[in-house]
Amino acid sequence: MKPVLALVGRPNVGKSTLFNRLTKTRDAIVADFAGLTRDRHYGNGHLGKHEYIVIDTGGFEPDAHDGIYKEMARQTRQAVAEADVVVFVAQDHDLANYLRRLGKPTLLVANKAEGMKEGAQLVEFYELGLGEVLPVSASHGQGVRDLVEMALATLNLPEIDEDAEVVDDGSIKLAVAGRPNVGKSTLINTWLGEERLVAFDMPGTTRDAISVPFEREGQKFELIDTAGLRRKGKVFEAIEKFSVVKTLQAIESSNVVLLLLDATQGVTDQDAHIAGYILESGRAVVVAVNKWDAVDSYQREMLMRSIETRLPFLKFAALHFISAKKRQGLGPLWGAIAQAHRAAMCKMSTPVLTRLLLEAVQFQSPQRGGMFRPKLRYAHQGGMNPPVIVIHGNSLEHVTDTYKRFLEGRFRKAFSLEGTPLRIEMKTSQNPYKDKDA
Ligand code: GDP
Repeated sequence: MKPVLALVGRPNVGKSTLFNRLTKTRDAIVADFAGLTRDRHYGNGHLGKHEYIVIDTGGFEPDAHDGIYKEMARQTRQAVAEADVVVFVAQDHDLANYLRRLGKPTLLVANKAEGMKEGAQLVEFYELGLGEVLPVSASHGQGVRDLVEMALATLNLPEIDEDAEVVDDGSIKLAVAGRPNVGKSTLINTWLGEERLVAFDMPGTTRDAISVPFEREGQKFELIDTAGLRRKGKVFEAIEKFSVVKTLQAIESSNVVLLLLDATQGVTDQDAHIAGYILESGRAVVVAVNKWDAVDSYQREMLMRSIETRLPFLKFAALHFISAKKRQGLGPLWGAIAQAHRAAMCKMSTPVLTRLLLEAVQFQSPQRGGMFRPKLRYAHQGGMNPPVIVIHGNSLEHVTDTYKRFLEGRFRKAFSLEGTPLRIEMKTSQNPYKDKDA
C-alpha cells in the first residue's frame, strides 16, 4: 500500500510547485495519450523503489466559515485524515496549532528558502512548535529529496527487495473503481450474493485496505475495497462514501481494475480522471457500463460516442454493458477479467520478442531521423502487470510515436494482450547511461 503525503499550507506558499517536484515520475507515457485529463490534486511519486501518493490541498484558512474557503478547509481536513504524513508548508500559527493537536507525523517545511541563511530566518519556524524545520526551495528543487526521505523515514516502511518480481499466485486481485453512485456497491453485493461465488467469511486486511477473498468456478479472486472503509476497533466505519486516496490505493494493489461507468450519466470528468489513474498505474482494465437497463437507444448511442471521445486511451480494454441491479450481462465480465489478467501476466521470451521485432522491421522499417536511421536489434521483457517490452538498438531516440504504435499493434496481436496496457521502452546501446535516473 503506497503511503500518502498531504501538502498543507495557506494559498501561495508554493505548494503546487512542490507538488510538481514531488510527483515527477516515470510516466511520461501518459502524456502520449490524447484525451487524457489529469487531476492535479493527486499524483504519484517515487524515491528509488519507494512509491508514494501526494495530495495537494487548495489552501487552508482555518477561520473560514463560509464560501470557497470553507470548502477548501473541508477538503484539507479530508486530505489530512487520509494522509500518513502531513507536509506543512510555511509559517502559520493557527494551522500549526491544528496540526499539533492531530498528533500525526508532520514535517514542517520552510519553502522559498533559496539563499536563506540558516539560523536567523528559520528561528520563526521553530517557534511554531512542530520540531525540526526543513528548508526547501520548490522552484529550485533544493531540499526536496531530503523532504521525501524524511517523510518516508517517519513511517518505518519495510525494505523493498530490489529484485522482487510481480508474483503470480494464480489469484486475481480485482478492484472495482468508479465515481460515487455508478453502482459499485450494488454490483459487489450482487456478486457476493451469487451462488456460484464463494466468499470467505472474514475480510482480510493489509495495512488499512480491506479485501475480500472469494472463488468462482475454481478461480481465486481477491476483491480490493475502494469504499474507504477503515477498521476501528472491531467494527468498520466508512470515512467518506467516496475517497480518491482509497481508489488510488486499491488500483495500485490490484492486478485488474473493473472501471464502472454510469449509462445514465455519460462519461464525466471524474470518470476520465479515474481512467487516467488506472492507465498511469499500468493495471489491466475492463470497462463496464452499468445501468444499461435504464437508457434508451438514443442515450446508448450518445454514450458510445462519449466513450470514444473521452476515453480513447482505453481502447485496449474490453467494453461490457451491464445492469448490476437486474443482474444482466454479468457472466461475460468474468471472462473479460480473466483475459485481462492473463494478458497482464503474459510471459514473452527474448527469442520470440526478437523474432517479432525483426519481422515487424522487415515489414516496415522505421523512418530516418536526420542523419540516422534507427536500428532495432533485439527485444526482451522488462516487466509484468503491465508487460514492458524493452527494445535495444542504435539511434532509437529517432523512433517516432507512430512507429511505436505500429510495433505495439504487432506485439499485442501476437500475444493476445487485450485488457492490459503495454509499455515499450527504447534502449540505445551507444549511450547506455542516457535513460538511467540521475
Ligand atoms: P456506488 O456509490 O458506486 O456504490 O453506487 P450504488 O451501488 O450505491 O448505486 C447507486 C444508485 O444506482 C442506487 O440507487 C442503485 O440502486 C442504482 N443502481 C445500481 N446499479 C443499477 C443498475 O444496474 N440499473 C439501475 N437502473 N440502477 C442501478
